[in-house]
Amino acid sequence: MLNKIEKLSKVLNEAYSESSLQSGLRTFFADNFGTEDFSIDINNKIYLEFPVIEENEIKFPIFKHKRSIGYLIFKGGNNEFKKFIKYAAPFISLKVQNIVLNDKMQKNVNFHETMKNIAKIIESQYELNYIIPIVGEMIDKFFTDYLLYIFLKDENLGGNILAWPMACKDAKILSIVENFENTIFTEDRKTLALPLKSESKEVGVLVAKSTGDKISDKDVEYLTQISSQIATTINRANVYAEILKHATLDALTGFYNRNQLEERIKQEVANAKRQKAPLCGIMTDIDYFKNVNDTYGHAVGDLVLKDIAKIIRGQLREYDIAGRYGGEEFSILLPFTKIEEAQKVAERLRTSIENKVVDISKVNPDSETKTIQVTISLGIYEMQENDNDEDLLKKADKALYQAKNTGRNKVVVQNE
Ligand code: GH3
Ligand code: MG
Ligand code: MG
Repeated sequence: MLNKIEKLSKVLNEAYSESSLQSGLRTFFADNFGTEDFSIDINNKIYLEFPVIEENEIKFPIFKHKRSIGYLIFKGGNNEFKKFIKYAAPFISLKVQNIVLNDKMQKNVNFHETMKNIAKIIESQYELNYIIPIVGEMIDKFFTDYLLYIFLKDENLGGNILAWPMACKDAKILSIVENFENTIFTEDRKTLALPLKSESKEVGVLVAKSTGDKISDKDVEYLTQISSQIATTINRANVYAEILKHATLDALTGFYNRNQLEERIKQEVANAKRQKAPLCGIMTDIDYFKNVNDTYGHAVGDLVLKDIAKIIRGQLREYDIAGRYGGEEFSILLPFTKIEEAQKVAERLRTSIENKVVDISKVNPDSETKTIQVTISLGIYEMQENDNDEDLLKKADKALYQAKNTGRNKVVVQNE
């Protein structure tokens, strides 16, 4: 008997999960008792305080801190097996208890890891389109038994819009989110909807749906903490976007940013109309700029953008207005300027940029190519009497499109 207990303790020592324990015991009992018609199950739904020994079944409690968290059931087997189990059950039970506790601890470690990673994102990223998928994948990895959905509040539409994953076809969840006011735990305890709330500002809803058991109290706690972490991340990104919107200058080029540019267009259009003065708009776009990024890296792309901005600024009069319309698109307003003059300005810009040699050796020391050159395409338009604010750049953009389609590195005039 002692010998067998020793062997058993070796089996128990080597087991690291419920399933490896089951298969270890199966082999052990087959080898030592010649019995295979037995079963060991773990029931963690009903708590049992004392062992129950019956003719063909032995139940033995599993404890955690002196409280029962379930029991083992041994069924079948020969007499020798049954006799042995009476001695061995406490050891097996202890092992199961350790495995259960270990799993929980591991989950706790993983949870803190997940929270830490989300916090790291908060520090380094502000772009929501970029953040949400990363956060979504992280929590998906942590809550493997749940389907998770992140909905974000849309201020304009006044509702919560699905942001992660790409689709949600679950009508029940959609209806919960549509009518969402506060935390909802469905009656079957399998779907939980939590507000994404940061500094008392609600930014969306997190929904978890279990694909198996009811959502445990511990997981409710995890989900609540995670939802607050996600909300903080989103809130920061929103605040940052708001700050950018109110900033007047583009950080990279020093030009007016899109918002400010639009303000200036309104003023200049009104001004030109009032004074019956000519006003021209220019739209520019770098040719094959994606190639520059792809070949030499983003930092080189940024350097090119800066150099082009410098050239544009250097060529303009003091009261001309330059703005960064989008990524690599610049807009220029030329007040008191007729189209013939604007055409000359545009042509001068085009050749200056074409001739500019950009030294990339500092930004990308690894590149064998030390200098590069780029070209831009331009579209120009002179405002007509009936035009509104938006027409000026819209029509210049139409000409730019023509320039792109007919060879690039050229200036095209839009006549009406
Ligand atoms: P096309 O001649 O038709 O304009 O070709 P393209 O490659 O310039 O045009 P496309 O619109 O396909 O690509 C524009 C690229 O500009 C995409 C993006 O990588 C790059 N870009 C936009 N904003 C920035 C920026 O701020 N920095 C850098 N480095 N690249 C940018
Ligand atoms: Mg472009
Ligand atoms: Mg381009």
